[in-house]
Formats: sequence, C-alpha cells, structure tokens
Amino acid sequence: MDTSKQYAARLDATDALAPYQKEFYLNKDTIYMDGNSLGLLSKRAEQTVLQVLEDWKTYGIDGWTDGQYPWFTLSEKLGSSMAPLIGASAEEVLAMGSTTINLHQLLATFYQPTADRYVIVSEALSFPTDLYAIHSHLDLHSISHKEGLRLIESQDGHTLSEEEIIASFDNDVAVVILSSVLYRSGQLLSLERLTKAAHDKGILIGFDLCHSIGSVPHQLKQWDVDFAFWCTYKHLNGGPGSVGGLFVHEKHHTALPGLRGWFGSDKSKQFDMSPLFHKSASVGSYQLGTPHLLSMAPLIGSLDMFTEVGIEAIRKKSLALTHYLRYLLNQLPDTQSFTISTPVHDKERGGHLLLEHPEAARICKALKSHGIIPDFRSPNGVRIAPVALYNSFTDVYKTAQTLAAIMKNKTYIQFENKRGVIA
Ligand SMILES: *Cc1c(COP(=O)(O)O)cnc(C)c1O
Repeated sequence: MDTSKQYAARLDATDALAPYQKEFYLNKDTIYMDGNSLGLLSKRAEQTVLQVLEDWKTYGIDGWTDGQYPWFTLSEKLGSSMAPLIGASAEEVLAMGSTTINLHQLLATFYQPTADRYVIVSEALSFPTDLYAIHSHLDLHSISHKEGLRLIESQDGHTLSEEEIIASFDNDVAVVILSSVLYRSGQLLSLERLTKAAHDKGILIGFDLCHSIGSVPHQLKQWDVDFAFWCTYKHLNGGPGSVGGLFVHEKHHTALPGLRGWFGSDKSKQFDMSPLFHKSASVGSYQLGTPHLLSMAPLIGSLDMFTEVGIEAIRKKSLALTHYLRYLLNQLPDTQSFTISTPVHDKERGGHLLLEHPEAARICKALKSHGIIPDFRSPNGVRIAPVALYNSFTDVYKTAQTLAAIMKNKTYIQFENKRGVIA
C-alpha cells in the first residue's frame, strides 16, 4: 500500500460496487462519512416513495390490496427483503415500528421474570434508549433497577469483554440484551458465541442490530438467536424516521406477543373484527396498528439494491474502506494524535472507525467546513463511516488528507468548542 492519490484511484477502478455511487444523491461539494447515523437518499428509494403516493392517488382505499406494492402485506414483504441480510427466513422478519418500540414489544414478550430468574443483562455502553426501555419493563414488574439490571462495564471505556459478559450469565438471568455493533467504538460482538453461552444457561438473548444491519452479515437463524430489532435509517438508507425491523426466531412463533394489536392478526381473519385476537402464525403477530406506509416506502427501493448486491459484497468493501482509512491515519505524520478506539481485527469491528481526540468537537466542525461530513460523539469522538454503496476509496483518501491538514495547521482552533444539537 502507499498513501498516494493514485493508489486510491486504483482501488476505485477495481471496485465492483463503484457503479452504485450513481444511484445516490451525492452532493458534489461534500464527502458524506455519516451513513451510520443517517444513510443517504437513493434514486430507487425516491422512486418507490413516488410510486406509493401514486398508488394512493390512483386507488384510494383499494391501495391496501391493489397497486404496485399493496399496503396490507408490505411489512411482511419488506421483512422478507431484510431476512437475507441477517440470515433469517422470510417468516421471521418484519418491517415495523422503531428500534425503541420494537424493543418494548420484545421485552413485553420475552421478559417474564420469575422469583428465581428476573435479571436483565445489558451493558453500560448501550445506546441510551435501550436502557430506558429496559428500565420501563423492570418498573412495570416492580423490580428495582439495582436488583433487575446487570450492566456489564467496559474496562477501557470503548469495548466489552465477551468473557466478562458471559461470566455474568448466572442462574438468575432471564434475558440478555446487547448491541451487535457498539454505536461508539464500532466493536462487533460475536452473536454466535454469546447466544450459545446464554442458551447453555437457559437464558434468552436478543440483539440491537442498528449499527450492523446493512453493513455486517449475520446468521441469526443458524446461531439460534431468540430475537433482534433495528432501525432502517442508518446503513439501510430508509430515510429519516423510516420504519424499523424485528426478528423473532420461528421456535417462538407459537407464543403470544406481549403487546397485541389488530395488525398482528391472522390476515384472513383481521377484517372479521372479532373482539378476540386471532394471532398470525408468523412473526406478523408482533405488529400493532396500521403500518406507517409513507415511512416504509423508501425502503422498498433501498432494499432492492441490497438484494441485488448481497450483504457479503457490501461487508467486503466496507472492511476494505475502513482498513484503508486506518492505514492512512496510521501513516500520515499529522494524524498520530488520534486514538483509534475501534478494534483492529475484522471479526471484531463493524462499518465505522472511532477516532478520539480532546478537540473532537472542533475537529468535526473543521472537517465540515471542508465539505467532509463526520459524526461527533460527545465528549471526544469523531466517527467516520465510509459506506460501501456510495463512498469511494478516493473519498477515504480525501478525508484522511483533509484531517491531516487540519491537524497540521491546527485550523480547528478557530471553531467554537460548543456542541450542536445533533452533532
Ligand atoms: C440509532 C440507534 C437507536 C435509535 O432508536 P430509535 O428508536 O430508532 O430512535 C437505538 N439503538 C441503537 C444501538 C442505535 O444505534
């Protein structure tokens, strides 16, 4: 490897996914490195939004069953498009709700504390909403957070030790909730190993896939994971507030969902309007009310590209992009003041790098002033996520060079050291 622009251009020339850059609305004056917070709009996603509007225009109420993408079964249809990304069967995955609401649904279903088993294991670096949801369910069962929540601490503030997590799986544990990829450091946990360890102790386990779906492949069915949930506006490019996703292993499909609503009905009976709930036999039973069709519409087009390309090719390029970024940062003389807190090994990392520096907030502003969009994480983190479908190796090269120039000339000093709302 070398650190020249020509080298980046050579990598781009042999990149099989390069043609997909034209599928996205890329601003020619910026390099977008924030796809792990909000993915970009693609032309296909735009098209399917317009098509759903067209169907509404044309069919009115009949859009539920007619039109290009009948609304009545769209949650299931999008679920089946997401299934290959996580190694599930079509009947195990749904587009519904949001990360937070889906976790509530899954805890309402799978967290059934008894006198002996009442602890929820999670971790201190969790995305806060996950912890708030867990708190809610402990409260609903009148179990104190101290008694009921076992939070695994990080030794280095960034990563978790799987040994320590597994060591916490005592006989009092009912459910384990962990993230596949940690949202700050980008550490990827071994879902397979953790699931096996949980099951050895008779514990149910579920994962938050927000930072891995669309970036890292999983084999949830083969690994026997009990359940999972995620958003679709990050690597899946579903748009702001797009409808989330949920996986429940088929072995649990006979159970009644904790939260029930009429869209969870057996579809052939839903319009009988019975006062009694006749549950769907598949994961469909987890649905609540009328789906948010306009927030699902972009996913139809966006997922189409994932189906076409396949998650393995995406992961391969994603690893190459972040590998190249790390290489440049380690080679350039002026980027040595960063600590790269993302694990090095491919098996232990997702699709972004976390760079730490006491001046992270100002450095992010300086990058933005040069047209590079990073992601600031308080207090000292710069996350950089080159995305396989729309970023190039030249984008990575330019990002690293710009960062080096900013550090060399200390131009970040001129920016205010204050946080934005969503920085
Ligand atoms: C983005 C993210 C969320 C967000 O939850 P929403 O309900 O979609 O707002 C939750 N958990 C993780 C790990 C995330 O990365």
